[in-house]
Amino acid sequence: MYIQEISIDIKTNLSKNELFEAFELLMSYYRGNGQTQGKIESLYIENNKIVTLPFTLKKNALDKKHNNQYVHKQIAKIEQLGGSKIKFKTVGKTNVDYKQPCTCKKPDFYILITNYVTIDSPLTCGTCNDTVPLYKLPEYYDYGYMPILSWETNYQSCDRLNMNCEVGERWALNQMENIQSQLSKQGRKICKRIEVLTGVPTFYYLHNYRRYKGDNKKRPCPSCNKKWNLKTPLHDFYDFKCDACRIVSTISTMA
Ligand SMILES: [Zn+2]
Ligand SMILES: [Zn+2]
Repeated sequence: MYIQEISIDIKTNLSKNELFEAFELLMSYYRGNGQTQGKIESLYIENNKIVTLPFTLKKNALDKKHNNQYVHKQIAKIEQLGGSKIKFKTVGKTNVDYKQPCTCKKPDFYILITNYVTIDSPLTCGTCNDTVPLYKLPEYYDYGYMPILSWETNYQSCDRLNMNCEVGERWALNQMENIQSQLSKQGRKICKRIEVLTGVPTFYYLHNYRRYKGDNKKRPCPSCNKKWNLKTPLHDFYDFKCDACRIVSTISTMA
């Protein structure tokens, strides 16, 4: 992943806190438009300068051409408040080997999947198995992708409860494993909409742990009850795929 630096020199008498808040809002807009990842960037004041260091999947993710109207307007507002132009530069990578996310022209399918630690996009390409920057999709809702990010943080909250084990673990696991849970319903609705917008079949990843039940490859699709196991695992990970129901899953490691 890339680390970008966005900064502005404050050349007016405006309170630094006011500009800081305006910058925070800009970062929310970038996030809502899928241009930055994870909303975990540092944001700080250094003398007469405000600096933030967001993560992006592509080097050019902050190019103007990807901005939506909220980002555009907020940049204009900050530049007016601060009396100077916002500066952008790429300051590094999280990993020397990091190349770039999915570049497939027409993926065969997408998968909606995340977990409690990742800051990748919640959408992966079924063809190359790499992450898909959300701003590459057609506009999802209100010039951005907030409903997808809402599912993402819901899922990550459940996964965190699941991993921490002490509070709500079973409830959270059920949200992640049960095709009828509110979380699965929210996710599958998003998959349907992405498919309509892009014309690319979009699958929902159903988590599978089954600590108390065991598991086997012959069990049918939990939605249509038909056979859904794959002869060879997809991307060395997915063991189940139902093309009719648009869900993928794995055999339990506890099987
Ligand atoms: Zn791809
Ligand atoms: Zn099915």
